[in-house]
Amino acid sequence: MVELREQIARHSRLYHQLDAPEIPDADYDLLVGELALLEASYAALVPIPTDSPTQIVGGAASLAFAPVVHREAMMSLDNAMDPDELAAWGDRLTRSIMRSRDVAATADEFDERVMAVRYCCELKIDGVATSLTYADGRLVQGATRGDGRVGENITENVRTVGDIPTDLGPGAPAWLEVRGEVYLPRSAFEATNAALLAAGLKPYVNPRNTAAGSLRQKDPAVTAQRQLRLWSYQLAAIEGGPTLHGHEESLRYLESLGFPVNPEIRVFDSLPAVLAHCRYWAAHRHDLDYDIDGVVVKLDDLALRHQLGSTARAPRWAIAFKFPPEERTTVLRDIEISIGRTGRATPFARLEPVFVGGVTVETATLHNEDQVALKDVRPGDTVIVRRAGDVIPEVVASVLSLRPADRGPWQFPTSCPCPLSTALVRAQGESDTFCVEAGCPFQRDQRLIHFASRGAMDIEGLGERTVGLLTEAGLVADPADLYALQAENLLNFEGWGEISVNNLLRAIEQSKERSLAQLLVAFGVRHLGPAAATVVARAFGSLEAITAARREDLGSLEGVGPVIADAICAWFERPSTADLVMRLRAAGLDPQAPVAPSERPLLAGRSVVVSGTLEGFTRDQAEAAILARGGKSPGSVSKKTTAVVLGVDPGASKAAKAAELGIAILDEAAFVHLLETGELPEG
Ligand code: NAD
Repeated sequence: MVELREQIARHSRLYHQLDAPEIPDADYDLLVGELALLEASYAALVPIPTDSPTQIVGGAASLAFAPVVHREAMMSLDNAMDPDELAAWGDRLTRSIMRSRDVAATADEFDERVMAVRYCCELKIDGVATSLTYADGRLVQGATRGDGRVGENITENVRTVGDIPTDLGPGAPAWLEVRGEVYLPRSAFEATNAALLAAGLKPYVNPRNTAAGSLRQKDPAVTAQRQLRLWSYQLAAIEGGPTLHGHEESLRYLESLGFPVNPEIRVFDSLPAVLAHCRYWAAHRHDLDYDIDGVVVKLDDLALRHQLGSTARAPRWAIAFKFPPEERTTVLRDIEISIGRTGRATPFARLEPVFVGGVTVETATLHNEDQVALKDVRPGDTVIVRRAGDVIPEVVASVLSLRPADRGPWQFPTSCPCPLSTALVRAQGESDTFCVEAGCPFQRDQRLIHFASRGAMDIEGLGERTVGLLTEAGLVADPADLYALQAENLLNFEGWGEISVNNLLRAIEQSKERSLAQLLVAFGVRHLGPAAATVVARAFGSLEAITAARREDLGSLEGVGPVIADAICAWFERPSTADLVMRLRAAGLDPQAPVAPSERPLLAGRSVVVSGTLEGFTRDQAEAAILARGGKSPGSVSKKTTAVVLGVDPGASKAAKAAELGIAILDEAAFVHLLETGELPEG
C-alpha cells in the first residue's frame, strides 16, 4: 500500500502540477483501483486523517501562482466503468434519497420528487476544470481546481480564452461563479503538432495536457497563442440572480448570459435511457472536434442534490460513465521492418498484447526512421499505445522511468528482412527508406495482395496467407499467373479441400469483370489512386490506348496532372509491364471503359467532400461518381466546399468544420439526389 501510494502520488504530481503525465489515465486508474481494493480489505492500515489518493481531489496547487481558496470545494467525480456500476450508482442514489426523506417538506411531495427523478447527461470533456468568478458582471477571477479547496489564480490567462466572457453586460447577477472545462480542439492540437514536427521538435502527447500546460503558463501571451475553448457545465454560486430549481435550467441561464454550453446536453427520466445515451457517445466520440472520455450523469433537481451532498472527494448526485480507454502502456518487445509493395521499409512495434480501444493490439506503426528517433522508443521499453476509433494503432511515447538500463537507441536495419537481404537505401532529403531490389519476394507478395484487395480487383480469399502459399510454392510470381492457376495445383496445400479451391478459383475468374479503373488501381502505379484512375480510364477507354497515351495528354486531364502522368508513363514503359499486360489480356482481362463525353457535368466547378461509410457506394465509387460529373472530391472541408456527405462514422473534424462553415450536410439519399439532378436539398 505504501509503495502504491508513492507511485500514485508521483503520477498525480506529474499530471496535475507539471501537466506532463508519464502513463495513460487508464493505467493510473488501475493503480488507484488496486490501492482502493487494498484499503477496503485492510482498513486498519489506512492512515488517519487520510491523505490517500482514493479520498482526495487532484493535486496541490503549484506555488508558481497565487493561491485561491474556493468558496465551494471543486470536487472530482465518481466513475462508473460499465453498465453495472451505473446501475449500482442508481441504486445508491435512490437509497440515499429515501434516507433523506425526513428533511423533505411532506412525504407526498417527497414521493412525487423521487418519482420524477431526471438525469441530466453531459459529455465529459477531457480538459482542465476552471472556475470563473464575476462581480457585477465583470470577470474578476479565474482559478484552477488544485486540491479542490485551494486552486491557482490564473485570471490573466483565462482572459485570453476567446470563449470566456469578460463582461456579462446589463442584467448580470451581483455575484456569479461558473465552472467549466477549458479544452483544446483536436484540430488546433493537430495543427500545433504538425508545426512542431515540421520544425523537428517533439510533439505534444495529447490535447488535454497541451490545454493544461497552456492554461497554466506564467506568461498569458503564450496562453493566448493556443486556441483554447470553454464548455461551461456548472453554476457554482449566484447572488442577485434568478432562483433556479433544475440543473438544465441553470445551464440555459448561463447560456443566456453568454457562456458556451455544450449542445449535446440531454435530460432523461430513466437510467436505461441514460445508458443508451452513454453507449451512443462511446461509439461516436470521434465525431467531435474535442476529446471526451465519458458522459457525466447528474441529478437535475437542485434541492435533492443539496440534500444528498458529497463525500470528501465527489458529489453523490453525479457519476462519470467512463468510456473504454484508448491509451494503455505495454512492453515493446521489438522493432521490426515491414516491406511494402513499392519497397518502402516501415518500422513497426511488436508489442506485448494489450487491450486498448476495444481490441487486442499486438503491432503498431512507427512510420519511419526519423519518427523512431524523435520518439526514441527502444526494444524493451514500456510504451504508451494509442488506438482511437478505427485509426491504426500507434506508439505514442516511452515511459522513461521504466526503461531498462542496458538499452541503447534503436538502429534502423541496413538490409531488407527478406531472404535476399539486399541493402536498404534512404535517399538524401527523403524520410522513407526503401528496398530497391526488383526481385524482392516481400515486395512481390505485397504487390499481389494489393492487386487482389478491395479497391482493386477485389478477389475474395486472396489475402496475405494465401498469397504467401502461392508464391512460396512457386505457382505465382505476378498477377497474370493467378489466372493460370489450376485446381490440381491448389489441392496439394495442406487443409485445402475442393470447396476452398473452387471458391478461390471462382473469385479469381470473377475478377476478370472488374473495370478498367480498378485494374489500373490494382497495378499499383505510384501516385495513381482510384479517383485519377477513373479519370484516365474514362478518357482513354482501354489498356491499349493508355499504353500508347502521350504524357501531355494524360497530364492535361482534370485530377491527373504531370506527376501522376509521369508515373503512369514510367510504369507502362517498363518491359515487365508490357509482358504483364500482354499476359493479362491473353488471360481474358481487357476491360473497356466506354468513353462517355456526353455525361452531363452536373457538378462542374463544385466540390463535394465524402466522409464515413455509405451503404450504396464504396468511398472510391462515391468519389468517382462526383468526378464523373465534372466535380471535385477533395479530402478536406474548406470554404470552397459545396457540400459534405456524411455516412456512418464520419471524420469528426470534417463534420465539425462543415457545421462551422455552414456548408450543406447531405445524407446518402440527398447525395444520390445531387448526383442525379445536380441539386442540393432545400434549406
Ligand atoms: P475526473 O477527470 O475523472 O472527473 C472530474 C472532472 O471531470 C472535473 O473536475 C471536471 O474537470 C471534469 N469534467 C469534464 N466534463 C464535465 C462535466 N460535463 N461536468 C462535470 N465535470 C466535468 O477526475 P479528476 O479528479 O479530475 O482526475 C482524475 C483523472 O485524472 C482520471 O481520469 C485520472 O486517470 C487522471 N489522472 C491521470 C494521471 C496520469 O498519470 N495519467 C495522474 C493523475 C490523474
